[in-house]
Amino acid sequence: MLEIKNLHASLEEEGKEILKGVNLTVEAGKVHAIMGPNGSGKSTLSYVLSGKGGYEVTDGSATLAGADLLAMEAEERAAAGLFLAFQYPVEIPGVGNMTFLRTAVNAQRKARGEEEMDAATFLKEVRAKAKDLKIDAEMLKRPVNMGFSGGEKKRNEILQMAMLEPKMCILDETDSGLDVDAMKLVADGVNALRSPDRGFLVITHYQRLLDHIVPDVVHIMARGQIIKTGGPDLALEVERNGYADILAEVA
Ligand code: ADP
Ligand code: MG
Ligand code: MG
Repeated sequence: MLEIKNLHASLEEEGKEILKGVNLTVEAGKVHAIMGPNGSGKSTLSYVLSGKGGYEVTDGSATLAGADLLAMEAEERAAAGLFLAFQYPVEIPGVGNMTFLRTAVNAQRKARGEEEMDAATFLKEVRAKAKDLKIDAEMLKRPVNMGFSGGEKKRNEILQMAMLEPKMCILDETDSGLDVDAMKLVADGVNALRSPDRGFLVITHYQRLLDHIVPDVVHIMARGQIIKTGGPDLALEVERNGYADILAEVA
């Protein structure tokens, strides 16, 4: 579903290289996790894949279901089925949450050559999904993420993801700043979306989230590269011993 080969990317302004040859393949139906020390380039990887400005890809490739992601504009990537839940969800003043969701859903459907979702069906779906995530009606009316708590923003990201039905979901530290109950809601929301034709990349600092979203594969990222890959046990090893042993072993 997502294939990244030898991806190198630098900060456009300073020219500083952050991604130094990332190789990663996420198959449809699988959940891959990326863990790694602060500053290793995890968020940069998600930004570069999403098409956020400010980065220059200097080498390598990234494809989504075989299509060249790096050749697409950010909106085209989303329309092609890539979804990113950011570490810091953006607030959008003046745009109602419901309106935003409806526009995004219909843009997605249009890109897939499908008809718009009618208003009644949309309302029914959004309400049902919001209820599962304990997002109340009032939050659906407010401007996107404006004045939402950290936990509410993260749950709202999962609502967007549930409505968009993407092919490939990337979650960047969706667990950070969440209390145990909110994390459980987010994890349940993600698990409900697991499907044989959808891939997940879950970026997290802590094993905790991976107790709830059990990954098929765990990668460790450090200094702009994936330095080790293993099963769920690798996350437990990190939880017990930190990254020092793995970094030393690779060095
Ligand atoms: P992680 O998500 O793994 O903690 P990041 O991708 O956020 O790591 O950052 C990787 C490295 O790139 C860090 O050293 C960070 O300071 C640097 N970096 C990322 N974005 C910028 C930026 N816009 N300006 C300066 N340095 C940046
Ligand atoms: Mg960080
Ligand atoms: Mg980060």
